[in-house]
Amino acid sequence: MLYYVSEKYGGITLSLNYSSKINKIRTFALSLVFIGFGVMYLGLLLKNIEWLMLIFFLLGMLCIVFSTVVYFWIGLLSTRAVQIVCPSCEKPTKILGRVDACMHCKQPLTLDKNLEGKEFDEKYNEKKYRNEINEKK
Ligand SMILES: [Zn+2]
Repeated sequence: MLYYVSEKYGGITLSLNYSSKINKIRTFALSLVFIGFGVMYLGLLLKNIEWLMLIFFLLGMLCIVFSTVVYFWIGLLSTRAVQIVCPSCEKPTKILGRVDACMHCKQPLTLDKNLEGKEFDEKYNEKKYRNEINEKK
């Protein structure tokens, strides 16, 4: 159930197995670095076949470069996120988009009063859905 965070504070205990988007992307970027190194290591094992080793090295480099790009993207997203104090665990967290989960306790939160009390759904962040709501108004 979504929890509106601007005005009301209360004791909703429902917790979803949904981690905050920022944390998710960060984990993804970190795993990319490891995949990159793994691929490069595979290339080392194949050093007898020079062209194959080169391809693996390039692929590994690409993974690492891509993860750097993702890290930059996280930085950009973080500045756009709204900082709030989670009503559930009372720690500071960030909300990205209209609905997101608390980084610490996974409490689903919303910045849109119209969505208060609704079931958490990623679709509320989609542009298409946003337009539908605006049309109904
Ligand atoms: Zn929390």
